[in-house]
This record gives sequence, structure tokens and C-alpha cells, in this order.
Amino acid sequence: MIDLHCHTLHSDGTDTSEGLALLGDEARLTALCLTDHDTLGGIPTFLAMQPRVKVRLLAGTELSCRFLGQSLHVLGLLVDPADLRFQARLEQLRGRRHDRNLRMILRLAELGCAITLEDVQAQSDTPLLSRVHFAKALAARGVVRRAPEAFERLIGDDCPGFVPREELSPAEACRWIREAGGVPVVAHPGRFGGRGFRWDDAMAELQREGVEGLEGYYGEYRASEQKYFVSLAQRLGMVVTGGSDYHGGNKLGLRLGRGRGGLKVPDDLIDHLEKQQRLGTYR
Ligand code: AMP
Ligand code: MN
Ligand code: MN
Ligand code: MN
Repeated sequence: MIDLHCHTLHSDGTDTSEGLALLGDEARLTALCLTDHDTLGGIPTFLAMQPRVKVRLLAGTELSCRFLGQSLHVLGLLVDPADLRFQARLEQLRGRRHDRNLRMILRLAELGCAITLEDVQAQSDTPLLSRVHFAKALAARGVVRRAPEAFERLIGDDCPGFVPREELSPAEACRWIREAGGVPVVAHPGRFGGRGFRWDDAMAELQREGVEGLEGYYGEYRASEQKYFVSLAQRLGMVVTGGSDYHGGNKLGLRLGRGRGGLKVPDDLIDHLEKQQRLGTYR
């Protein structure tokens, strides 16, 4: 069993990267890839745990793109954490995130929900601030009773207090990931699109833009979704990956390696992923 999608407190999870490595061992995983949003901040301490754990520790990240008018997440699996150009590119993304965060504070003030940047920072153990920390800050200030209510009323994707950030094109994200030695993979495609949306053509389009794989196994998929996405990847000749999208206490009920309980990502996916990394389909 492996898990190629999870978060620590370096983005919007609650575990330390050391703690996550230990949890991977406890869950008896054979491989674990850390994929925090827009940062490799947790990777050095994560990889430094390798001598203490049996589970193979791998480096990754998760980037947000704009595709068909919606946010599409692309995982960069097996990226080289020492790649300076990639680090600078991620820093640029974090700058855009910071601008968005400042605008969101102004927007929330207009809505009568006064919180400061310091309130949001107080909810995060690391410099990266995400909506998860906004939700906690809004709860701490008494604007909402509990953090999930903030997503329902104020800062969820379709809510009045949400401010989008400038997102990459899928082609750009794929190029950045490839140039950092990683494999670009569509994260949780099942969470994208609305009623009636079919991935068949859209995934082929993304493949033309440089996407090489898709998350066929995911912590929150129904069995039918897993079957559909694994077979779609086979039809298109894309690599299949899988992970829980574990966020610790910030996404209750999702367990590392196990998702909501039914997840079991096969070990041999890692061999195909590494082969894809070596041989690539990207031109
Ligand atoms: P951001 O990257 O700052 O826009 O924040 C996005 C993060 O907020 C996601 O990665 C999730 O962890 C979390 N999130 C987004 N929408 C919801 C929601 N409706 N309920 C709970 N968490 C959410
Ligand atoms: Mn997240
Ligand atoms: Mn995601
Ligand atoms: Mn994720």
C-alpha cells in the first residue's frame, strides 16, 4: 500500500513532516509522497526522516491551475527538491497567494467580517496561509461558530468572501514540474466538473498540454469513480497514481493510506510512475 498525496502544516494539514513520516510507517505503507500546496517547505525535514522509517519517502507538491473555468489541481510527483528554479517558481506562487489573502481580508471586511492578517497567521505554524487558516481565524474571532461554517457561508468557492488567486495554466504547471524532474498528474479528477461532465475529452486535452498521469485512486472516491478513472488512464496511456489527500485534523475522517476506509493504492504504481519519470512522454 502506498500514498502519493498528503499534506502537513507546511500547507494546510496539521501534522509535522516528521510526524507524517512516522505515521506512514505506522500505517505500514511502502511509499509516501508529501504533496503540500505551493511549497516544498516540509520536504527537507520529511526526507531527513528516511533513516528512521521503513516507508520510502518521496518529494512532491500540489499546484492549482485554471481549466475550463474551474480550479484544477495538478500534483508534481517525484520533483527534485534541490531544483532552485522550481523553488523560485513556487515562491512566485506563494506571492500570488499572499496577494489573494490580503484581498480576501479586505473583501471580508466589506462583508462585515473583520479579521486581520495577524489573526490568520496566528492559526498557522508555517508562513503559508490558506483558507483553512482563514476559517479557523473567523471561528476564533467569533464571526462563525465553527470553521466548517466559514466555508459554507463565507470563503467556500462560491461564497461572497472568496477571492480567487491567479492560477497557472495546466501547460505551465506541467512544464514547471517536468523541468524539476517530476511527473505532472491530475489530482482528484473526480472532484472536478459539474453534473453531466465527462472527463474523456477533457483529459485527452490535458494530456496534450503535458499532463502525464491522473489520480485513479483517491481517499474520497466511490468504487465507480475509481474504476472509471483507472480505465480512462489505461485508454489514454497515462500513468495512474493514488493517495488519500490526508490533511490531519483539518480534514476529519480521512486517514493516511486508507482515506475514508476503502482506499488501497497498489504498490506497483510506483514502478510505473518511476518509469514515466525516466522515459517521459513530455516533448
Ligand atoms: P486555498 O488554497 O487557500 O484557496 O485553500 C484551499 C484549501 O481549503 C483546500 O486545499 C482545502 O484544504 C480547504 N477547503 C476548500 N474548500 C473547502 C470546504 N468547502 N470545506 C473544507 N475545506 C475546504
Ligand atoms: Mn488542501
Ligand atoms: Mn487538491
Ligand atoms: Mn491535496
